[in-house]
Amino acid sequence: KKRLVLILGDQLDLQGSALRGFDRETDEIFMIESAEEAQYVWTHKAKIALFLSAMRHFAQVLEADGYPLHYLKASSLSITEALRAYLLEKQIKYLVCTEPGEWRLKQSLKALAKELAIEIEMREDEHFFCTHHIFDEWAKDKKELRLEYFYRLMRKKHNILLDENGEPEGGQWNFDQDNRKPYPKKGPGMIDGPLSFETDQITSEVLEYVGEAYESHPGSLAHFNWPVTRQQALEALNYFVTYRLQNFGTFQDAMWTDTPFGWHSMLSSSLNLKLLNPREVIAAVIDGWRQHGFDLSAVEGFVRQILGWREFVRGMYYLDMPKMAEDNYYEHDRALPNWYWTGETDMACMKDAVRQTMKYGYAHHIQRLMVTGNFALLAEVLPSEVCAWYLAVYVDAIEWVELPNTAGMALFANGGRFTSKPYVASGAYIKRMSNYCSSCKYKPDVRFGEMACPVTTLYWNFLIKHRAQFDASPRTRLMTVNLNKISVEDQQAIQAHAQVVLNNLDRL
Ligand code: FAD
Ligand code: SF4
Repeated sequence: KKRLVLILGDQLDLQGSALRGFDRETDEIFMIESAEEAQYVWTHKAKIALFLSAMRHFAQVLEADGYPLHYLKASSLSITEALRAYLLEKQIKYLVCTEPGEWRLKQSLKALAKELAIEIEMREDEHFFCTHHIFDEWAKDKKELRLEYFYRLMRKKHNILLDENGEPEGGQWNFDQDNRKPYPKKGPGMIDGPLSFETDQITSEVLEYVGEAYESHPGSLAHFNWPVTRQQALEALNYFVTYRLQNFGTFQDAMWTDTPFGWHSMLSSSLNLKLLNPREVIAAVIDGWRQHGFDLSAVEGFVRQILGWREFVRGMYYLDMPKMAEDNYYEHDRALPNWYWTGETDMACMKDAVRQTMKYGYAHHIQRLMVTGNFALLAEVLPSEVCAWYLAVYVDAIEWVELPNTAGMALFANGGRFTSKPYVASGAYIKRMSNYCSSCKYKPDVRFGEMACPVTTLYWNFLIKHRAQFDASPRTRLMTVNLNKISVEDQQAIQAHAQVVLNNLDRL
């Protein structure tokens, strides 16, 4: 019997589970470029271009390999609409796919199968170390769901960075304290890379098409330089391990004007599109460490991101959906300031993070968490608006990874289901970790008045408002101890100024 094998834009791997047991005599692959995917959030042009170029390159590989493929270019239909039409037209009764990275699509595929009374075989996505079953078993009887314990379990289970006695390499699980340095006062100096990729015919056509068809969408295509094939992704991995990994750990949290990539790997889009497998990424990084003798802290810091955070947030996403998308712990309801789409703000930190986001579709973790994320939380923006922005503007954004990071980590929208405290910080943190404040109209240590840093004002205002919550936990009590050192009059002035800031978010 004929089976239709659906391959989505973020499942571009010949070894993917959907292709297992594929019968070239009877089966057929179905791929679709659906405009709806680019429109249901106002997607950055570079993200659309990356997906389309990577999909078309993958289709080329499939065809060269002799796979029967039905590829729908630039369709105005949604994925499920297009599938419905094709399944009906060809009278196909059996659909095979890998679980989508988006809850909404997973539900609609199941609903479609039911509606058409066809069989659907939704296979587990094997690009992760942790299966749903293992994650759910681990989570099931935990009072607190914390990355650290999950990460240790993963290290042990997969025998990663363990010594011959099964103990963590270097005698500790966590080297975070070595991985939080700002750049030197004079700046980051010469940073190797990023690697440049040639724009071949497929990519040029896509860039031209996206530039026209999605002209009104945010972001630029002028700097498009993301791996669109497995070969390019492997080159990017190799380049990272050879030239950048050694400094990755130390400066993981550091920020500097016009230094969009720092020493980061820029591998997230390749991992999320499945051009790379996390197993090979971790193996390459550990090999590099053994060969070149890099600091263990850099390697452990990197492994923690992939084997720890990436797997952990995925487990949490499937465990908590659809509630995760609806949670709004603080009941915030303000609109996202317009400058999130343009970078037109006097706040130097936001300007740099947003501008580079619009230029490349990229910002590194601390920019996402402690600059734009922190501000959105302090400014009391409706979580679903913030999440839609993150999903739209980053080339690596797929809901299973974007939503838990934004709603759960940055916005505390689920009330700390998997974080021990809200990640809030004043301008002092941004000053410590960057050079932004030195060129800013505002002053990071001024709490109210014309020169006051909006981040700082809103930070103290947030603490005043949620004093009881911050007081109650030993992890955050130091913050309220510091708040109590501010005189009552100054606290009132902060609150009054915060109201002005909150009422004028678009004009900062
Ligand atoms: P590096 O700093 O080089 O890190 C290496 C790899 O570790 C990344 O490629 C990524 O695969 C993984 N990683 C690191 N941190 C995380 C994390 N917190 N969660 C999951 N994986 C992680 N990452 C995405 O891939 N897609 C997203 O849509 C996304 N949205 C985010 C939204 C917010 C608010 C925050 C705070 C973080 C988000 N992240 C997201 C996580 C992280 O910021 C990016 O993975 C990282 O910046 C990608 O750049 P890089 O490849 O250079 O990462
Ligand atoms: Fe950002 Fe405040 Fe520093 Fe300006 S002073 S760069 S707004 S933290």
